[in-house]
Formats: sequence, structure tokens, C-alpha cells
Amino acid sequence: MTGMDDWRRQYASRITSPGDLAEYLGIPCPSSGCFAASRMFPMAVTPYYASLIRFPVETDPVFLQCMPSGYELHNPPWLTEDPLGEVPCSIAGRLVHRYRDRALIIATSECASYCRHCTRKRVSSRTAPHITERELDECAKYLKHHPEIDDVLVSGGDPLLLEDGVICMILERIRSVASVKAIRIATRAPVTIPMRITAELVSALSGVKPIYVNTHFNHVNELTDCAIEACSKLVDAGIPVANQTVLLRGVNDTAGAIEALCRKLFHNRIRPYYLFQCDLVRGVEHFRTPLDTGLDIMRNLRGRLSGMAIPNFAVDFPGKSGKIELLPQYIVERTGDRTVFTGNNGETVSYPEPETGWTSCSGMFEEQG
Ligand SMILES: *Cc1c(COP(=O)(O)O)cnc(C)c1O
Ligand code: SF4
Repeated sequence: MTGMDDWRRQYASRITSPGDLAEYLGIPCPSSGCFAASRMFPMAVTPYYASLIRFPVETDPVFLQCMPSGYELHNPPWLTEDPLGEVPCSIAGRLVHRYRDRALIIATSECASYCRHCTRKRVSSRTAPHITERELDECAKYLKHHPEIDDVLVSGGDPLLLEDGVICMILERIRSVASVKAIRIATRAPVTIPMRITAELVSALSGVKPIYVNTHFNHVNELTDCAIEACSKLVDAGIPVANQTVLLRGVNDTAGAIEALCRKLFHNRIRPYYLFQCDLVRGVEHFRTPLDTGLDIMRNLRGRLSGMAIPNFAVDFPGKSGKIELLPQYIVERTGDRTVFTGNNGETVSYPEPETGWTSCSGMFEEQG
């Protein structure tokens, strides 16, 4: 492979300045704020991802996710560098331990395309080198000393931008810790550089079981034939693929947009896992939606989509507070032994609490004396 179906060519041909993206699209020269934003947080777009942009660009979900905006310079005090408080929970600057039984390893700072809404800008805006063997050893040592951690997420940046051999080394090292029972890879490669999911990579990943891939589609326009093929290769190899969407104003903040995305993900064996409220990271104020937007979307999905296709809507809080799931309120009233709800069609329904006074084997045997 030597053409644009080769992921290295895609990576090497990335568009890395607002002026170049504007020229590629034939649109007017971007504002000075746009250029300033691209210096604060790097810009990169693969030719593949840029090819998904449709006109008018002002409302295009792909364009809005990858073209810097002068609004990124607006930084109210609630937006920070490390909105999830990962730094204080870090070991060797690489392993983040926020949940008792789970840990996350930051394997690299690089991504194929940089998302303007990225939560881990403090990582992806620096070209920190890939995880070294020494750092990996430190992570493995920590995992050995914390056998309660049975689930390790390999994240970044985008770990699938590493070479196959490096990915294998990382996975093998994690797997060598007996208490680790599941490994998850967090990657946006299927979205921004789907040709990265080569047969060789898939066979390397499928050798490590059980392994999960979590990806990050935000809009149905990103679910191209090429992206679906990449995910299908993983699923065909026995690697479950799930999706984490970030709710972004102007990109996907309607029930129709999320429904179309989740429906198509489901039809293609990609499980909608999370719908995240935008984290409070620097430069995203213009992307943030009111909490009610997400709740209204969830209420709409419940009537229209199978539970198999409905993600968990969550807000992530710093440190050990972690992800908190938000659910629309269906309960209207609770009176002693009855609870009244509003059903999906708006009708009121009620559910009786069970009678008490039974034991689990009541009615199985003759009552004794
Ligand atoms: C989100 C996250 C996890 C995984 O959470 P799940 O709800 O199990 O998907 C683990 N570690 C860190 C640091 C996280 O941010
Ligand atoms: S792929 Fe992930 S880590 Fe990379 S810029 Fe996008 S959100 Fe951030």
C-alpha cells in the first residue's frame, strides 16, 4: 500500500494549520483568533477526516470538531487544564488511578487529528514522547502492588498511532500482571484514520484476550463505509467495540443527531456506551450544553431506540468522584406502596411494591405444624 489508504501516508499528509484547511476547502482565510487558538492547542486533521467536511462548513460537525475557533481563547475560571483531576491521581505521569478497580495508562500524547474539545489537552498539546519501557515497568510494578485493579485502559493521546510492535509490548507488559483481567484500548483511529486498523494490527490485538476497543464517534457523518469496515474487522476478530460520544453544542446536541448516530452504531455492532457531558477543560466554553439538553435527549432516545442502542449519559468529576450517570426523571409520585411514573408516550402508569412476609422458599414445601 502506498496511496492514501496507507495510514502512514495519511498521518504524514495531515493538515496542520487553519490556513491550509481553509485553502483545501476553498473558504475564506480564518480569523486571527482561529490562528491564535491553533497555537495554544495544536491543530492536525488527516486528509481522510478533512474529506468528510460538508458545506456549509459553519454547521458541519466534522469541521467544528477540527477547525480551531477564536472562542477557545475565552477561558472562564471553571475551565482548567486538568478537569478530571488526573494529575494528582497519577503514577509515573502515566498511570491514572481514579477508581478502585480500574486504571488508565497514557501511552502517547499523539493523535491523528486533534479534537478541539479534547479533555486531555494538557497531554495532547505537548509532544511528550511515547511511554518508555522504564515508565511501563513502573506502571506494571504499581499494578502488581494493587491487585484490586483488574481492568486497565490504554489511552492517550491515541495509542493506536503507535507502531504495532510498541502496542504489543505495552499490552504484553500489562497482561503479564496476573491480577489484570481485562484491557481496554481508547482510540479515535476508527474515526479519524480508519486505515490504521490493518489486518496485522487486528491480529496482534486479538491475541490479547479479553480486550475491548472504545472509540469516539460524535456524529453519524463520521460513520463512513471505511470507518465501519475498520470497526467490523475488530468485531469479526472477537474484539468488542463500544463508543463514547461527547455532547457538543452545534455538533450533535439534538435528539435527532444522537438517535441517528446510536442507531447506525448499533446496526454496525458498535455498542453506544457513554454520552458524556463536555468536561470543563480550557477552550471549550462554546461547545458546552446545558445539562437539560442531555437529559432531554435521553428522554427522547428511550422511546425511540432499543436499550441496546442507548448510551449512559454521564458527567465526569475530578479525581475519585468520577463519572456520575444522569437519568431523566420519570417518577411523578411515590405513595407508600405505589410509585407513579410518566411512560414514554406521556401516559401516567403506576407500579405496586411487593407484599412482604414471604421467605424465598415459601410455597415450596408443606407448612410444618
Ligand atoms: C473513565 C475512566 C475509567 C473507566 O470508567 P468506566 O466507567 O469503567 O468506563 C477508568 N479510569 C479513568 C481514569 C477514567 O477516566
Ligand atoms: S483523539 Fe482523544 S486524546 Fe486525541 S485529541 Fe481527540 S479526544 Fe483528545
